[in-house]
Amino acid sequence: MAVQNIAIIGASAAGVAAALALRKADFRGTITLYDRDPNLPYERPPLSKALADRPGLLKPIAAAEVYSDLEIDLCLGAGVRSLSTERVITLDDGQQSRHDQVLLTTGVSARRLDVPGRDLANVVHLRNSADASRLSSRLEAGGPLVIVGGGFIGLELAAVARSLGLDVTVVELAPLPLQGVVGPAVARLFTSLHLDAGVKFVTESSVSAFLGSEEVEGVELIDGRRLPAATVVVGVGVVPNTHLARGVGLECPGGISVDPFGRTSLPWLWAAGDVTVRDQRFVRRRGRIEHWDSSQRHGDAVGRSLGGIPTEETAVPYVWSDQYNLTYQGFGRIEPSDRVVFRRSDVASFLVFFLDETSRVRAVTGIGHPREVRAGKTLIEKGSIVDPAALADPCTDIKRLAKGTSPSMASPVR
Ligand SMILES: Cc1cc2nc3c(=O)[nH]c(=O)nc-3n(C[C@H](O)[C@H](O)[C@H](O)COP(=O)(O)OP(=O)(O)OC[C@H]3O[C@@H](n4cnc5c(N)ncnc54)[C@H](O)[C@@H]3O)c2cc1C
Repeated sequence: MAVQNIAIIGASAAGVAAALALRKADFRGTITLYDRDPNLPYERPPLSKALADRPGLLKPIAAAEVYSDLEIDLCLGAGVRSLSTERVITLDDGQQSRHDQVLLTTGVSARRLDVPGRDLANVVHLRNSADASRLSSRLEAGGPLVIVGGGFIGLELAAVARSLGLDVTVVELAPLPLQGVVGPAVARLFTSLHLDAGVKFVTESSVSAFLGSEEVEGVELIDGRRLPAATVVVGVGVVPNTHLARGVGLECPGGISVDPFGRTSLPWLWAAGDVTVRDQRFVRRRGRIEHWDSSQRHGDAVGRSLGGIPTEETAVPYVWSDQYNLTYQGFGRIEPSDRVVFRRSDVASFLVFFLDETSRVRAVTGIGHPREVRAGKTLIEKGSIVDPAALADPCTDIKRLAKGTSPSMASPVR
């Protein structure tokens, strides 16, 4: 029987892209796009970057007319409480509706720290625009600011807060901030960047309690040390929003498992974006990818597949991060065993390649070298095997390697 009626739950990078892709695939039936957030769907990356510029915080993914022109029924402020095996959606207010196919693009939530004081006022997480407005007011109120977790969001916040003159301390479990994401060599450069800007780091440590009676006044570390705090931001990773999928019997270890087209093991249930566990051509391990660009592309591909045009998401994963006046860019996924090849190594201007055991280019990252980073992306796409010494030499033209015009140094993989 033809699909007449599709529900998409989660109106962010993946959900909006999927709705638009369904129309591009010429799906003529009803599309209902639900989100608990009351705002017109907006981009999440500015939430940690534009905190000093409140009007810049809410950047719509698409204008309201785009949804109405395409007859996409946008249900905002509409949290989905449950989903049944009969494909019935129940909203938080009790309203129910039945759909032929359901696409889950529910993303992730900020992980909470289960320590005393976790519910004190001014202990904040950053995931949506309401969190960002609250945090923006707290930054205006002044420091000290303690950031628990030195990932990209934590370091972007540190940069914003330092540029506003706040006293900032980052508490990180690993020996270096960002180490798990970019590897120790690049993590050392980020650490120097922030130390130079006056950020303080407490590494190989964690929080045992948030201190205060109603509002947070400080943080107690596992070694007993205490840090004063007017605001604490907890940025210690995310948990996938899988409860709707688990409610219809899917197990969801680490996320919702999908095939290359976004199908789950139920014929009427699909999933896309950060919430999914999937294989990706340029990522060596099956898992979740938590980048805006990848989620948008995945939503687009799954939307097309749901609309009858089977499509896989095969772009090299891309992430960026703005800190101070610098933009970091990275293509590909770094593995701890990768060989690290520096081509430029200044704190505010670096370019680094990551090669596997066969010297195949797997990832490239940098600050201040956008063209070379893009050329590196082409090496990844081609599966090029390179001579590490030649790659490290700033005189070697990466674009020529990428075009495969230096056969002694680059050989595309069959
Ligand atoms: C502050 C911040 C900064 C970031 N910066 C960058 C960056 O610089 N570069 C980068 O590549 N990535 C960045 N990211 C990551 C990027 O935003 C995510 O990868 C992307 O948003 C994932 O999109 P998604 O659609 O899969 O899920 P999400 O964006 O997590 O959206 C899921 C949506 O589902 C809704 N939802 C969940 N459950 C329900 C329910 N039961 N009922 C109704 N609605 C529900 C939520 O309200 C939400 O709107 C950042 C993330 C954050 C939070």
